Order: sequence, then C-alpha cells, then structure tokens
Amino acid sequence: RGAAPPKERHAWLEKQEDDDEEEVPRASQSLLNKLIRQSLVESNHKVEVLQRDPSSPLYSVKTFEELRLKSELLHGIYSMGFNRPSKIQATALPMMLADPPQNLIAQSQSGTGKTAAFVLAMLSRANPDEKFAQCLCLSPTYELALQTGQVIEQMGKYSPVTVTYAVRGNRIERGTQIEDQIVIGTPGTVLDWCFKLKLIDVKKIRVFVLDEADVMIDTQGYSDQSVRIQRSEVEVTFAVCWERLKCKLKLLKNISNYNSMPIYRDNIFMKILLIKNTVYHLAVTIHIHMTRRIAKWLSSEMIHDGHQVALLSGELLVEQRAAVIQRFRDGKEKVLITTNVCARGIDVEQVSIVVNFDLPMNRERNPDFETYLHRIGRTGRFGKPGLAINLVDSMYSRNVLHRIEQHFRKKIKELDTEDIDEIE
Ligand code: ADP
Repeated sequence: RGAAPPKERHAWLEKQEDDDEEEVPRASQSLLNKLIRQSLVESNHKVEVLQRDPSSPLYSVKTFEELRLKSELLHGIYSMGFNRPSKIQATALPMMLADPPQNLIAQSQSGTGKTAAFVLAMLSRANPDEKFAQCLCLSPTYELALQTGQVIEQMGKYSPVTVTYAVRGNRIERGTQIEDQIVIGTPGTVLDWCFKLKLIDVKKIRVFVLDEADVMIDTQGYSDQSVRIQRSEVEVTFAVCWERLKCKLKLLKNISNYNSMPIYRDNIFMKILLIKNTVYHLAVTIHIHMTRRIAKWLSSEMIHDGHQVALLSGELLVEQRAAVIQRFRDGKEKVLITTNVCARGIDVEQVSIVVNFDLPMNRERNPDFETYLHRIGRTGRFGKPGLAINLVDSMYSRNVLHRIEQHFRKKIKELDTEDIDEIE
C-alpha cells in the first residue's frame, strides 16, 4: 500500500476488504445458531432458573403432563432434561395437539424451543401401527434436517415411531413404500420422493412442518416447492419461523450497561488482555469490525500469549465454522474472535461480554445502528444483564459513539480501565 495512509482512509480500505467476505446464508446461520445454543441448554443447567423468570422467553407455566402426552414421549422429554414447557411450547403445543387439527404459524426468538415443539407434535400425531409416512417436515438445509432428525430420534427414543431422511445421498428405489411415520428432508428431495419416485403418498400426510419458514420463503425455488407439497391435502400445517428484527427492541431493554473505554490503538491489545484476564472465567467474544488479516493477527497474538482463542472468519466453510463454534461451545476456547461479516446473524448466547474492537459503520461512513444493536444483542439475553465494551481510540470514534448514544437515547458509561473492580 506504499506510505502509511491517513487513519480514516486506512479504516475505509480495510472495510472494503471486509466486505469482500462472503455473506453467510441465513440457513447456515440457523444451523450455527442451533449448534451454539445446544451448549446453553445442555451444559449450564440454567434453563430451570430462566423458566421461572417471567421476563425470559423461556418462562413457562404449564407442565408437560397437562398436555396429556403419551407416556413414552414424556419419558423421552424428561430424558432430554426438559422439566417444563418453554413459553412458546406452552402456547403452541395445546394448539398443535388439538383435535380437530388446526394450522399454526409459530414465531419466537431463536433457541426458545420451537423445534422441540413441532417434533413433539409430530411424534404425538404419528400412529406407529400404520407403516407409512404421516408427518412431513421440510428444512432449508441438509445439515438442519439432520439436526432436527436427531431431536426426533432423541425425543422419540422410547416411542415406536420412526423417522427417515429425505436428503441428498439417501437413495431409495422407485416405488418402495416408506414405512417410517416421519419424514424429514429438504424441499427438492422431498418433492422427488413424493411425486417423482412416489415413495410417499402425500394424501396420507397428516402433519406438515415448514421449519425456518421465513428462510424458506426467502430462498428462491423453495417457497414454490414447499407450497406444492403443502397443497396436497395435508390435515395440519405448522410453519415455524423467527423474525429477527421483531426482537430488536426487546434485546435493547435487557442490556443495562454497555460501556465505553477511551484508549489508543497501540494500547488495544494490552487492554483486551486486561479485560480478558479479569473475566477469564466467563465466555468472551471479541467482535472485530475489520479485516480477516487483523482478526488473524489478534488471534495469533493472543494464542502466543497462552490464551485459548477460536477464530471465525469468512474464508472458512460452513462445516469448519461449525467445528470452531463446537470447540467454543465445549469450552475449549473462551474467546471467540469473529470478523464483522462472519458474525452477522450468529448468536453466541452464552457470551457474557462483547468487545467491539471498532464501532460498526456503513458504506457511507455513518454509524451502523442495526449492526451495533445486533452485536451487543449477543449479551444480556433472557433477562440476564449484559456487558458490551467499545474500544474508542480516536476523536472520530468518540463522535461515532456519541451518535450511537443519541440514536438509542441511552448514555454509554465510560469505563475506567485502570479500575479492575469496575470491569469485574
Ligand atoms: P428453536 O427451534 O426455537 O430455535 P430449540 O427447540 O432448538 O429452539 O430449543 C433450543 C434448545 O433448548 C435445545 O437445545 C433444546 O433441547 C432445548 N429445549 C427446548 N425446549 C426445552 C424445555 N422445555 N426445557 C429445557 N430445554 C429445552
């Protein structure tokens, strides 16, 4: 690049590079989100507590017994560690299990139990004595179909109901009759199974689930295929979706203290270490609103210093990203560094602290309020207090921060970096 460019131009150049990263498709985001969420529920055992908190999306009142589920399904649910239904489950399950059947569109935040709800509905409505496909579930991707299939298998562990996968690679002879009661798959393959290979008699389908319905409708070709399947005399349809933007305001309410820290770029690394050392027992994400190069630099510096760091950047394939998240989930790394594009749409809900290495800006060099909210939205979920730290390193970024404060009408507290107690 020749002589060192002026600072703002430098940032602009780096932003361009960042924009070259590939967008993460929404369906892949969903999968990554699911992988992350598993740990929230499976590893920290906080669900019980959260379910008793009326401000939490997991808050629930009803018991599973009240739903009069078959005993083998209750057994399955309890063996998964579920004690009571989440809010969406308590609301949607009575409708999903009602007779006569009713169509339903369920919409709630990611990770609040929608998948578990429709899986339970399918398992309840399937008749194991009848050896043909009765419930059909469409997922936007192969990986999500497998993931949901695993939930069916786990929850249906004590039930004679079985599941099969209509996904690429699962070849079944034309004309063979599917004997499993539940079929889960991606739209293209399901369509082939129904109409080309005639493995499924669509007239016998009682339950039709459109998972991630908002993603499906967004994906070219998928909405036509889904509608074509659904039109074929299905008794009951559940469309399950999550519209991210509707949750915006709710997120902001939960985040009570996000702080700013005036420091200079030379010092940034030291400050990050300072923050990280004081909160070492917590999971920390560091969001880097810059290039892959800087993300790489930061992670190698931190690794060199003996910290365990996971790096999520746009050059990784979805499977590789899933593996990185899995390691973070397993607690193998406590710090997750992500580049801006890569972090978009991915919720790391166990994250306690978000560090904004740079404040998010749009192409016009104005503050990107939505991305800001999205990033800090990663902390403070489910009524827990959150902490986001912005690294402010110039008058320019101080001005950006000021505009963010004005936009959200919320004062961002300044953090004294010398005061460990305050950071803690
Ligand atoms: P969604 O489909 O809304 O994204 P999931 O159904 O995948 O959410 O649920 C998120 C996580 O919470 C999963 O790990 C699931 O096993 C767990 N979970 C779902 N319902 C309950 C419940 N009632 N009690 C405890 N954990 C639950």
